[in-house]
Amino acid sequence: MRLLVVEDEPDLLTGLLRALRKDGYAVDSAADGEEGLHKALSTDYDAIVLDVMLPLLDGWELLARLRKKKSTPVLMLTARDRSADRVRGLDSGADDYLVKPFDLPELRARLRALIRRSAQQARPVVQIGDVCIDTAARTVTRAGAPVFLTAREFVMLEYLARHQGEVVTRTDLYEHLFDESEETQSNLLDVHVFNLRKKLGTEFIVTRRGHGYCIE
Ligand code: CA
Repeated sequence: MRLLVVEDEPDLLTGLLRALRKDGYAVDSAADGEEGLHKALSTDYDAIVLDVMLPLLDGWELLARLRKKKSTPVLMLTARDRSADRVRGLDSGADDYLVKPFDLPELRARLRALIRRSAQQARPVVQIGDVCIDTAARTVTRAGAPVFLTAREFVMLEYLARHQGEVVTRTDLYEHLFDESEETQSNLLDVHVFNLRKKLGTEFIVTRRGHGYCIE
């Protein structure tokens, strides 16, 4: 999953990037509204965390312009707990909002729910054969036994599971698993796929030569 965080307070931005990357997300950042809008339009993010008070272009305006082109899920960060702001946020096409200051665990839970909703998964648990993926608790079991995945492996598995039955290209995977700050090596995907197969069974992820990967 690849996220965009648009936030101009350096400390908060740094904290958010660190926490979300630790969860295995690829995270891009923007420190003002114009840069945020540019990135939001040029990359297909799985979700965007958007601060309301931003230089150059505020969060409302960014959201309004984004919504003319894209339906990327957006979690707004509002400064005040005023009902007018909440109504405005939801009216403008925000999918959820959080009032500052917020708890990091709550932000992470809301983001997981947002990504799940956009994938039209009502339930957080995805069952594929004997593999059970709990996207809320971020745990995986195989035939009832826990499987331990790294954060990145989990995100890759979740992405493939969300597209079950479809071929996911390597380009798609690169775009959703790695962010702008990372030097990606072309064999990194192969390493993750190799490890997932080792943990979930060699047949679990099928390679479609020249196309990509698929969970059937
Ligand atoms: Ca701000």
